[in-house]
Order: sequence, then C-alpha cells, then structure tokens
Amino acid sequence: MQQALHRSSLVPRGFVVESACYENEGRQAVITVRASVSFGVCPSCGTTSRRVHSRYRRRVTDLPLLGRIVELSVIARRFRCDAVLCGRLIFTERFSDGILAPSARRTARLDSVVHHLGLALVGRPAAGFAKRLMLPLSKDTLLRVVRRRHRPPAEPLKVIGIDD
Ligand SMILES: [Zn+2]
Repeated sequence: MQQALHRSSLVPRGFVVESACYENEGRQAVITVRASVSFGVCPSCGTTSRRVHSRYRRRVTDLPLLGRIVELSVIARRFRCDAVLCGRLIFTERFSDGILAPSARRTARLDSVVHHLGLALVGRPAAGFAKRLMLPLSKDTLLRVVRRRHRPPAEPLKVIGIDD
C-alpha cells in the first residue's frame, strides 16, 4: 500500500516546511522551516509566551537529500516574556538540543553523523569521504566535533594503600 510522503517528514521533528528551492545551480536545496508550536518558553522563568516580538533567520546545514546539500533556513522568533517578576523582556526561540542546539550551525542529526564519521576516519580522509556524502565539512570541523563530544571520563579515584 502506498503512503503519501509529507514534506515535513523530511526535516527534523518539530519543524514545519514553509517552502523549498534550489540554489547553486541545483546542487543545494534550501528548505525554509518554522517551529510547529505556536509558543516559546522563557529560558529565565519558564513562562510560555505567544507574543511574538520579531522574527529572524537562522541558516543551518541538515542531512543531504537526493544527492544534494541541504540547508534549513529556520524562521526563528523572538518572544516577549510577560511574567511580572522576570527580568527578561524578550527571549529568542529555542529548540531541543536533540534537534537544533542554540547557535549550532548543523542540525543535531547531522552533527551525530559528523561525529561518527570523525571517529571512524579521523582527519583528512574523513573530510574527503564527507564531501562524497554531500556533507560540506573541513578536516578541522570533523576534529572539533569529535573533541567536543568525546570528553575523557573523569579520572578514577586513586586508592591509597596502607604502604602510601
Ligand atoms: Zn521570563
């Protein structure tokens, strides 16, 4: 049985597709998305707000699609916080870290692929392989993502023996 492919199923969970187009002579797809929820949650006091102050665009790279590099043009909102005792008047819309971390340039699902690619093929070979997979990444980016995610475990407690 055939099932319709909804365009919002192509982008990370929580986003709705507004429009899509090609750039760079068709080599790149740009998908304009916005959050599916109508409110924002103030990071200072946790109050929800539907009062939109303004909108801005965030451009982030997502997983490639149909052999093309995919950029999401995220229409993000700034909300007013109406809580009387909250010192923050305006806050920017945040997405779950598992979807799109604040000020990230890649979606979390792409970051996860980059991380595993970096771990498997450290350095220059990984960058070449990433290019073949339509992931525009430098060697330095791969190393940075691996270092950021792979923090060494805390040092084990030193057991002091009787002789010490
Ligand atoms: Zn607040």
